[in-house]
Amino acid sequence: MRMFVAALGTETNTFAPLPVDRLAFERAFYAPPGRHPETPTLTTAPIVAARARAARDGFTLVEGTSAWAEPAGLVSRTAYEGLRDEILDQLRAAMPVDIALFGMHGAMVADGYDDTEGDLLARAREIVGPDAIIGAEHDLHCHLTPKRVAAADLIVLFKEFPHTDFLARAEELVDLALRAARREIRPVTALHDCRLIGGGYMTSNPVGRAFVERVRALEGKDGILSISIGHGFHAADVPEVGSKVLVIADGDRAKAEALAATLGRELVAMGRAGSPHHVKPEETVAVANGYPGRPIVFADRWDNPGGGVPGDGAIMIETLLAHADVPAAIGVLWDPIAVEFCRSAGAGGNLWLRIGGKSTPVSGRPVDAHVVVRAVTDDLVIPFEQSLVSFGPSAAVTIGTLDIVLGSKRTQTFAPEAFTKLGVDLAAKKIVVVKSSNHFHAAFSRIAHAIHHLDTGGPFPPDPTRVTYRKARRPIAPLDAV
Ligand SMILES: [Zn+2]
Repeated sequence: MRMFVAALGTETNTFAPLPVDRLAFERAFYAPPGRHPETPTLTTAPIVAARARAARDGFTLVEGTSAWAEPAGLVSRTAYEGLRDEILDQLRAAMPVDIALFGMHGAMVADGYDDTEGDLLARAREIVGPDAIIGAEHDLHCHLTPKRVAAADLIVLFKEFPHTDFLARAEELVDLALRAARREIRPVTALHDCRLIGGGYMTSNPVGRAFVERVRALEGKDGILSISIGHGFHAADVPEVGSKVLVIADGDRAKAEALAATLGRELVAMGRAGSPHHVKPEETVAVANGYPGRPIVFADRWDNPGGGVPGDGAIMIETLLAHADVPAAIGVLWDPIAVEFCRSAGAGGNLWLRIGGKSTPVSGRPVDAHVVVRAVTDDLVIPFEQSLVSFGPSAAVTIGTLDIVLGSKRTQTFAPEAFTKLGVDLAAKKIVVVKSSNHFHAAFSRIAHAIHHLDTGGPFPPDPTRVTYRKARRPIAPLDAV
């Protein structure tokens, strides 16, 4: 048994004005064959899962390149084609293989390629032939295109949002691929198109939680091998944008199709019930003061670097500076220039600082303030489940009772360590604002008295009906009556 495994991914917000080149991958995460660290990352977990399984079962594992770029705008053609061909050349050199697995986010769009994953998987199929097993792991915020589903035998999506299960789903993918290669199972796949943009749920929400538990209970019996609920990623103008359900059955396509359609209808019927209520910036202080305890955590989810936007919006700084009596913290804003100034001033230094609002028109206004530098670091590293995430050189600054954490690398605020490692005491804060959509939820729920999601107006874009989709297939809700 010979298995090849590689990873290539990012999440492309086609409306975001942040270009992605090869350097963006190399700076975020790039490991040549055999150099992937012991710990998995969100998109490269199949490599770690395959290694563990190969050590246990004794099959031959050939590792290819793994690369991930922080979500942003369109990937350049040369970056995508270069990384794709690097991986395909490695696959060619590894032949013959019984299995080829790919860690992929599933929503990477490159210049000239609306479906990079479909392109890569179809080319991999040409190399490995019809009998080898091809599998991929995707984020649930992906575009499940017919092309990639046709090219792969197995696609397994994360089930949890926050995505706490990326390693568990990778292990599942490896296991299904091995069983398929040994001809113990015969995976057949059905893809149901919900004809819906902006669908989905959080599994930290009771409605979303119950749906995922129902889905999990259907797997592994009655010939159903795997069920994936593709929420879609609506910040992308691509033909196959939207929510889809993928069911893999053992040999029985009609059964897979029927279940995919049933679950698809349930997902559409759920509507917004699995999504949170959003608090407006001006409501934040009143909402927080409605609780006896602290801290109350608010997620600035529409300025989340994990969704491809800059993450340097300063709206909540402006809002909280108007409430000097409320102890608060905000982080992590992407602002390498401000970080550099703070590092020059050093811990304890004070200076006039322009914070946020620098990178693009969608970032809004910066805030100018006299700050005290609380702490600086060469690299702020925080955990996200089994992985580690770096903000690069970072600083915490204080304005009165407000602490602000600034980072040099764009990534979202997954865990309280983003504050505490720079000496910000969250237990002393009434309000904590994090730049994250929902991945913060797992770790922050351990220290938060309550959690809310904010609607700061953008730039993500929050509302699909206010976006111009030129490529999306029609009709599709909520743009059309479906
Ligand atoms: Zn996601």
